[in-house]
Amino acid sequence: MKVGLIRCLQTEDMCPGTADFKVMREKKCAFKDVEGEIEVIGVTTCGGCPGKKAVTRAAMMVERGADTIVLASCITKGTPIGFACPHAQAMKDAIKKRLGEDVSIIDHTH
Ligand code: SF4
Repeated sequence: MKVGLIRCLQTEDMCPGTADFKVMREKKCAFKDVEGEIEVIGVTTCGGCPGKKAVTRAAMMVERGADTIVLASCITKGTPIGFACPHAQAMKDAIKKRLGEDVSIIDHTH
């Protein structure tokens, strides 16, 4: 799996993504059933509210080799403060529409 990871820009000041990398490294949580190596080909943010830049950024990471776009849990679950992104579903839908069925989307990390 070649991962392009997208995180919430608003959350950068309170989380450096440590748990995201840990669960990928240890194949836990959203990655528990992954067979083979997990390679992170890039990490970016949504670009800030309302998250529209996540679409072009996801496409950019696919162009650079990602076969799976992962939305970090700060977006869909609101970790670490329990404040999920109000645009998470729209962001996910727009990414899916732009990238088509060939690219997988995982909507959380842990
Ligand atoms: S759009 Fe959502 S994910 Fe992006 S900065 Fe705003 S709250 Fe965070």
